Amino acid sequence: MPPSSFKDPFDVALSRRARWAGDAPIASVLMARTLAQPELVSLAAGFVDQETLPVTPVAEALAALLESHEGARAALQYGTTAGYLPLREAIVERLLAADRVARHEVALSVEQVVLTAGSNQLLHLVLESLLDPGDVVLCGAPGYFVILGTLANLGARAVGVATDDEGIVPEALEEEFSRRREAGDLGRVKAVYAVSDFDNPTGATLPAERRAALVEIVRRWSRDRKLYLIEDAAYRELRYYGDDLPSIRSHDPRGEHVVLAGTFSKAFSPGIRVGWGILPEELVAPVMSQKGNIDFGSPNFNQHIMATVLERSLLDVHLTALRAAYRRKIDAVLEAAEAHLRAVAGVNWIRPTGGLYVWVRLPEGLDAGLDGPLFDRAVEEGVLYVPGHYCYPPEGEPMARNALRLSFGIPSCEAIRRGVAALARAISASLEGTA
Ligand code: PMP
Repeated sequence: MPPSSFKDPFDVALSRRARWAGDAPIASVLMARTLAQPELVSLAAGFVDQETLPVTPVAEALAALLESHEGARAALQYGTTAGYLPLREAIVERLLAADRVARHEVALSVEQVVLTAGSNQLLHLVLESLLDPGDVVLCGAPGYFVILGTLANLGARAVGVATDDEGIVPEALEEEFSRRREAGDLGRVKAVYAVSDFDNPTGATLPAERRAALVEIVRRWSRDRKLYLIEDAAYRELRYYGDDLPSIRSHDPRGEHVVLAGTFSKAFSPGIRVGWGILPEELVAPVMSQKGNIDFGSPNFNQHIMATVLERSLLDVHLTALRAAYRRKIDAVLEAAEAHLRAVAGVNWIRPTGGLYVWVRLPEGLDAGLDGPLFDRAVEEGVLYVPGHYCYPPEGEPMARNALRLSFGIPSCEAIRRGVAALARAISASLEGTA
């Protein structure tokens, strides 16, 4: 069972779940350290670009939605627990088109699609449906830190599996399953969690062979009880270079093992916050029950807006502009890294082809954490980053403290260049200090 990390100054009779939830999230910790420095370039916050948020497409969709009073009233009423049917149908159509498969080639019905308030809620509902305290989810190390919080909150164990520049290493996953068997807790393993495209925090994308291999491993280790592979495709649409890859789910055409989580937050608007999940058949009822008890349906109006956006092809038009804007930013961050970081011995980074993040590895022994020499130096130089150690599960693959995440969603290209230059100065100064 995870230790309680929540410090309760009033000795309130909090639940175990509240205690497992832990302290303030990373964002507030970083903010608290930097309030005194408003001119700081934040390469820390994982938000999407403010300037490209889709004001005009939303205005058009809203006007269309409110045109008929009857349609508007339907959108202003409560919806269903699973969500607005035309949007669920549109999501199925989009997935099939993106995966380049015909409907009859995969087992996928609209009944398996559930709409949520962002994909984070979907992940939470699925994990809550699968996990008892002490159960295990195998995650990439490093991996998406919010899911680590979700797992801690459920009293579950996140066990880290090695990753490289192409995401989770299949051989390492295979080894971790063997290790669990030897440790006698294989029966507690319920799922593997993987971000398919442009991972948060590493920017890594799983190549097609790895997608197939991960499905195969999960299927093979499902001898005694079915295991799930939770595919988080939050960034799939944010590709700036190269060709889109069929989902991990496309390697599981009968839809038995893969839970696919998607969202319109990154591709369109996190303020509208519509996410979705495609569930193996037997998970539909339990997830729906959980959702029924929590909110009996996510905001219906937002789902109607998204359905109208898709119906009018506004998302695809927006994506073209969005990708062009982010392409400039990813070029800025990678060019600045070449210019300023390449010369620093022992520093390297993953070159993503999409998403919002660049993962930077530092020389051995240089601690990027809040108490290490680099963080305050970087703030003094004028840049903020996310220390990489936050992205490691508490067990399994050992944590690297000499790594950090840069986000390029919010700052301008000019600020990105300034921020990366400041980071390079801070790294060099810290290395001199530790030499
Ligand atoms: N998955 C990943 C990997 C993410 O980075 C995020 C957003 N930070 C989400 C899921 C959740 O996004 P939302 O809940 O807005 O759909």
